[in-house]
Amino acid sequence: CTLNGGTPAAASTDAPPAYEDPTLPVDDRVEDLLSRMTLDDKIGQMTQVDRGALENPSDLATYRIGSVLSGGGSAPTPNTPQAWAEMYDSFQRTALTTPLGIPVIYGVDAVHGHNNVRGATIFPHNIGLGATRDPDLVERVGRATAEEVAGTGIDWTFAPCLCVARNDRWGRTYESFGEVPEIPTAMTTIIDGLQGDALDAPGSILATAKHYIGDGGTTGGDDQGNTELSEAELRAIHLPPFRAAVERGVGSVMVSYSSWNGVKLHGHRHLITDVLKGELGFTGFVVSDWAGVDQLDGREGFTAAEVREAINAGIDMVMVPHDYRRFVELLRGEVRAGRVSMERVDDANRRILTKKFELGLFENPYTDRSLTAGIGSDDYRRLAREAVRKSQVLLKNDGGADGGVLPLEKSAKVFVAGRNADDIGNQSGGWTITWQGASGDITPGTTILEGMRASASDPSRVAYDRYGHGIDGSYDVAVAVVGETPYAEMEGDRPGSMGLDQEDLNTLSRLRASGVPVVVVLVSGRPLDVAGHLEDWDALLAAWLPGTEGAGVADVLYGDHAPTGRLPVTWMRSAGQQPINDGDGKTPLFPLGHGLTYPDTGPDEPEEPEEPEEPGGPGDPDGPGAERCTADYRIVNQWPGGFQAEVTVRNTTSTTLEGWEVRWTPSGALGIDSVWNATLTRSGDTVIATDSGWNGRLAPDGTATFGFTATGSPAVPGVSCGSP
Ligand code: BGC
Repeated sequence: CTLNGGTPAAASTDAPPAYEDPTLPVDDRVEDLLSRMTLDDKIGQMTQVDRGALENPSDLATYRIGSVLSGGGSAPTPNTPQAWAEMYDSFQRTALTTPLGIPVIYGVDAVHGHNNVRGATIFPHNIGLGATRDPDLVERVGRATAEEVAGTGIDWTFAPCLCVARNDRWGRTYESFGEVPEIPTAMTTIIDGLQGDALDAPGSILATAKHYIGDGGTTGGDDQGNTELSEAELRAIHLPPFRAAVERGVGSVMVSYSSWNGVKLHGHRHLITDVLKGELGFTGFVVSDWAGVDQLDGREGFTAAEVREAINAGIDMVMVPHDYRRFVELLRGEVRAGRVSMERVDDANRRILTKKFELGLFENPYTDRSLTAGIGSDDYRRLAREAVRKSQVLLKNDGGADGGVLPLEKSAKVFVAGRNADDIGNQSGGWTITWQGASGDITPGTTILEGMRASASDPSRVAYDRYGHGIDGSYDVAVAVVGETPYAEMEGDRPGSMGLDQEDLNTLSRLRASGVPVVVVLVSGRPLDVAGHLEDWDALLAAWLPGTEGAGVADVLYGDHAPTGRLPVTWMRSAGQQPINDGDGKTPLFPLGHGLTYPDTGPDEPEEPEEPEEPGGPGDPDGPGAERCTADYRIVNQWPGGFQAEVTVRNTTSTTLEGWEVRWTPSGALGIDSVWNATLTRSGDTVIATDSGWNGRLAPDGTATFGFTATGSPAVPGVSCGSP
C-alpha cells in the first residue's frame, strides 16, 4: 500500500506467477500452475504425439500438447546430434508460446544407448547386460546413455525394459535382462544412472520402467499376447523388478500391450491404480504404449469408451501417437459428461507436471549444448567395450592342443566368416537407428572382424570371407560369426524353427570341411536351437547383440579379457522345449548361470597381495559373526522351483545404521549379489533388515539358503543367516 491509496493489486499482477518461482517447493508450483490451467491445457498435458505425425508444428501450441516422441514407428529421424538438438529446441520454442508456457517433455527409445542417433555409442542390448551380472556396470551404462541423450535435448527415455522373458520365441527376449525376476531386479541400477542424483542435474533424464506387467510371460511368447498366470504367480515372477524400480524413484512406467488372463493391461485398473500406484506407492506418471489405448477394443482408431477405460484405469499420458485431434476431442467429451472425473484429470496432471518441474524444464527448457559434443566420444565407447567384454558367455571350449581352442594366439592364422562378422547393423540388432534395425554400415563403430584384426599380432593374420569361400587347411582356426539379423517386437517372434538359417549353415559346413577347428560366435538376441551342431563346433561363444563396440568380442576371443559372462536365460536343447526356464524340471542344453572361462592372457594388472583368511572371518559360518546374526522367515508364496518369503535379519554386531546395506545372496547359479532394498531399522544393539518381497529359488535338493553381507562398521561380510 502507498500513502496516496494506490492499489496493491496492480503490483501483484506484475509479479511472476508462483509456479515460475524455482525457490518454491515443487508441490506448491504444481498446485499454482494447476489452478491456472483450463481443461484444454490439462488434456493437452495428457497427450503425447509422434513428431512425424504433427501435421503442423503449431498444433503443439494449438492443442497445448504436453509431450512429443520419436518412437519406433516414427518418420526418419535427423541425421546428426546437432540436428536433433535443433529439432528439440524448436518444439520447445513453440510450446513456450502458449499462455502458461508449459514446456514439452520429449521421449525416445534410448534402449541400448542413444540408439536413434547416428554416431551415438550403442551398448549391448539388455540380455547381454544381464549376462554381466554387474549392477554397477549397468548403472554406468545408464549414466552414459543419459548424457548422450541429454546432449540432443531429449528429456526422457522409454527404458529400461524390465520384462522377465519366459519364452525365447518372443521377439523382445533381447530387451530382457533375464528370465528370472532377480536379474532384472538387480539391473534396475540402470535407473540410477539414467536419472542421476537429481533429475535437473546436467545429463540426467527421466527413465521408464516398461512394459507393466507380464509382457514377457505371454503364452507361446507371442508379442502383445496373453499372460495366463494366477495373481500370485504374476506378482512373484513379473512384479519384483517394478517394485525395485519404484523404490529407486523411476519417473514413469509404460503399460504393456499384452493382456493378463484375457484383460488388456491398458484398461487394467486393479494392476495400474491399485497395485502400481497404491500398493507400490508409485508417484510418477503412467504412459500408454504406442497406440495402446486405441487398440483396447481390438480395433484400430479411438473410441470414447477406450479413452474413458484407459484414463479411469490410471493411465496419465496417452502415446496417441497420430490421431491427436480425435483423442483430445474424445477426452474432453468424457470429462464434460462426467464419465472421467476432474480429480482423475488433475491427478494425471500433477504427476506429469511434477516430473517436468523436477527435470528443471521450466528453468532450462533448451538443450544443454555442452553435452552435444560428447556424443559417441572415446570415454563412452570404452565403457561400451567393457560392457561387451563382460557380456560374453563362453558355452563350450574344446579342441585345442591343451584343452580349449580359445583363447586364440595373437599370432594365429585365423579365417573369419559369417554374415555377422563385419556388420555393425547386424551386431547391433533391432532398435538401432531405425525401429527394426538393419544390416550394414548404419552407424559408426567397430565390427567384430575389425576388432579381431586390431587384436591380432598383425592384421594380415586374420583373413575374411563372409560365406567361408576360400578357406583351406592352412589355417590354425576358423571363426564363424553367425546367428540372427535385426528385428524388433513381433517381427522377431519365432513360433516355428529357432535354428540357424541356410546361409549360416552353408558357411559353417564350408569351414568344417576344411578340417580346421571351428569357433562359433553367435550374434543373437536369444538362445538358438544349436544342440544338433554342437559336436561339429570346438567352441561356442554367445555374444548376444553387442552394439557398436565389436572390439569387446575380440578382447575375449584373444584372451585379453577372460570370459566372465553367465547365461541370463536357460539355453534350450530344442525349440520344442520352449518355454524353458530355470527350475521347471526340463533338461536344458546349458542351464541358467552357465559360463566357462579360461585364464586371462592379457597384459598383467598389478595384483593385490592376498590376506590370509582369519578363522571366523568373512564367510565362515561358524565364526563369531554367525552367533550374532539370525534370520527369521515366513514363506508367503510358493511356485515350482521358487518361493517368496518375508525375511527378517537381526544383527547385533553394530550399533549404528550408518553405512549399512544388506545384500541378499540367493542360492543357485544366479550369480547376482545385490542390494535388496531391505528396510533397515535399529532396536537397541540390533540392526534389523526386513523384506516382505524376497524371491528365492530352490536348489535341486529342494532347499534354499540365503545369506547376507552387511557392510557397515564393523563389517560382518558373508554371514550365512538361514535356510528354509
Ligand atoms: C513399443 C515400446 C516403445 C514404443 C515407442 C512400442 O511399439 O512397444 O516399447 O517404447 O513403441 O516407440
